[in-house]
This record gives sequence, C-alpha cells and structure tokens, in this order.
Amino acid sequence: MADDKNNNISIFSGLEHLGFNDTENIEIFKKEVDKSEKVNNEISESQKQLSLIYEKEIICPVCENRFKAKAVKISAPRMVKKDSDFFIRYENINPYFYDVWLCNICGYAAMKIDFERIKGYQIERVQKEISMKWKGKSYPDVYDVNTAIERYKLSLLNYAVIDAKASAKAMNCLKLAWMFRLIEDFYSESIFLNNALQGFNEAYYNEDFPIYGMNRYTTMYLIGELNRRLENYEESLVWLSKVVTTPAVPQKLKELARDQKDIIKASMAAKLEDDNTLQEPLPEEKKNFFLNIFKRSK
Ligand SMILES: [Zn+2]
Repeated sequence: MADDKNNNISIFSGLEHLGFNDTENIEIFKKEVDKSEKVNNEISESQKQLSLIYEKEIICPVCENRFKAKAVKISAPRMVKKDSDFFIRYENINPYFYDVWLCNICGYAAMKIDFERIKGYQIERVQKEISMKWKGKSYPDVYDVNTAIERYKLSLLNYAVIDAKASAKAMNCLKLAWMFRLIEDFYSESIFLNNALQGFNEAYYNEDFPIYGMNRYTTMYLIGELNRRLENYEESLVWLSKVVTTPAVPQKLKELARDQKDIIKASMAAKLEDDNTLQEPLPEEKKNFFLNIFKRSK
C-alpha cells in the first residue's frame, strides 16, 4: 500500500509547505493531448467534407482563364431546418460556402448562378475596377464560414462595380446576412439584412419575376419577413397582410405570413409592456455603410 501511494505522489510534491496540498491530479501535458485530439478531429472532418465536393472546370467570361471551381455533390447536403426567411440549415456540408465562383487571375467573382451572365460593358468595368487591383489568393481545399463571408463580399463588390440588378445585390446581401447568423454576429447580420431589404424593395417594383426562383408572392412575403426581422413592424404588417389577403397566394405561404404576423403582434405587445426592452438602434453611419451599392441603379 505504501508503495502504491508513493507511485501516486504528485510531481509537484515538495511544495506542500508553500500551501500546495492538492496537486496529485494535476497533469502537466493534458492540454497538449486535447489539442492533438482536436486537430485529428478537424482533419477527419475536413477529409469527410472533401469527399462531398468535386471540381468543375469553368471558363472566366472576363479574362478567359480556365479554372476549377469547387462544387458540392448534389446528394451531399442534408437539410436540417429552414428559417422563416428561407435560409436553409444543413448538416455534413454547407452548400452556401461554395456558392461564389472566383477567378483568381482577374478577381471576377459572382454567385455561381450569375457567373456566366455578364455583359460586354460590365466585363470592361471588372477589368478596370477589379482586375487592376486584384492581388490573388489561394483558398484551402475545404471552405468554412469565414471563407464564405470573404467570397460573398468579393462577389458583392463585383456586383456593385458592374452595376448588377438590385435583385442580385439583394440576394448576395441576404446570403451574407445568413453567414453572419451562423456565427451569431447579429450586428453584421442586421446590416446585410437591411441592404437585402432595400434591394428586394427595388427589385419588386422594377424587375420581372421570378427573382432567384421567387415569384411575386414569395418576394412579397420575404420583404415582409425582412422588415419583421429588422423590427420595422408597421411596414412588415403591410406586406404580410398583402400576402394573406391576395386570393392567388398559395395556402402554405399565407400560413407562413399569418405566423409571422402573430409573432409581430406578440412582440409589439411585449414592447408596450416594457419600454425598457427597446434595443439600441444602429448608429446612423453603420446603418448606411453599404447603402451606396444600390444608389447607382436608380
Ligand atoms: Zn478571370
């Protein structure tokens, strides 16, 4: 027994007289073990994701460079949940991370659905305002949310430079907001939701439907829902009520609009009850941070 006890003596023995009596269970290399386990888990996770993507050869419409864009295999993403503004949450791999195609030679970037739809005068603008400044960047084999945010911002910058349709800028902003929602950066999320709303409002009155797969009624609902998320409750109720009272709107969408109206009514009642719960408004300068991207198309 005495030997066993001796074997268990802490490597910190001898410090008792300085006040350190409970040092037996301290493992000095424990953290290192945890760290390597974490690294191993990350490696196996990224190998798993790597097996779910493939490379697609693309020709850049701006500089005619051939490059390989990463794409997610169609059957790979498993949908877990859909948020009320149509953001789809996936497990095992996130297709939004691979949504932007980027030519590393000239810096042209766009959401993949728009990549090849670029006109002659827009190509010239990219060459002049993007390619001249573009420094190039090599991305890892597997993308994460921070990579996605950077690439969506590059795409948005290109849309602003080529004066793309309001709907393209709006959809790009909405997807950026969703990426910030994933990392719970709610301040940045609200900035991009605000810009998305501005763009969809403009698109609603000036563009033909469908807009990124959304018909008039779905867009009407989305504008109401973005207003709700930004706490523009009066405005939101106007749009959501339009959805509910328009005869041609499918039942399912009407139900969704009714649910969001109920949430607003509950929020408004709660606000009346306690004025102190009012959230601090965004500072005006931050609110206007991205506003200028929509100005040109007026
Ligand atoms: Zn290019």
